[in-house]
Amino acid sequence: MTLRFDHSPSKLKYLSSFAPKNDNSNLCLQCGLCCNGVIFADVAVRSISKIRILKKLGFQLTTRSRLSQPCAAFDGCRCTIYSQRPGQCKKFDCLLLEKVRSGQATQERAIQIIRKARRLVKTIEQLLEKLGNRAVDLPLRSRFKEVSQEMEASEHVDLEAHFGELTLKMHDLNLLLSEDFYPE
Ligand code: SF4
Repeated sequence: MTLRFDHSPSKLKYLSSFAPKNDNSNLCLQCGLCCNGVIFADVAVRSISKIRILKKLGFQLTTRSRLSQPCAAFDGCRCTIYSQRPGQCKKFDCLLLEKVRSGQATQERAIQIIRKARRLVKTIEQLLEKLGNRAVDLPLRSRFKEVSQEMEASEHVDLEAHFGELTLKMHDLNLLLSEDFYPE
């Protein structure tokens, strides 16, 4: 099932040029999981003026005025519309960021966790591709759901090993996201 949160992505991505070196925003620049379709399926855009601005900038919103993820404004490490990003993006802080701010985790530890999560995502994307899913514009969970439904609908004996591995990796990722990324 695709997870949808009422609050949404990201306290993201200060442009590297103005991200202070010791600022925790450096963590965001190395992460991106709240903009690339891993943590969220979409972002609510509640302000009418913001909807107008985003449309003017060429962004397509869903019929429920949401910005689908992976976000078209995310360039792989930063938000390209940082000053115009939706309010929900401004408000969101992941648990890992909170842990670093409160001293429960060091920057180094947080970076290790981010790297682990990104490695898992990469492996999952490779497995999805091996299983024939190339819908890179969909959230990760939607892609997993699509593949699961296809596997259930017909016999793909040759792909079962890949699907088994994918299921395990998704489980590992969900665990990691619950422990270190989803806000409490
Ligand atoms: S608008 Fe910017 S901060 Fe919000 S999800 Fe998209 S890339 Fe991330």
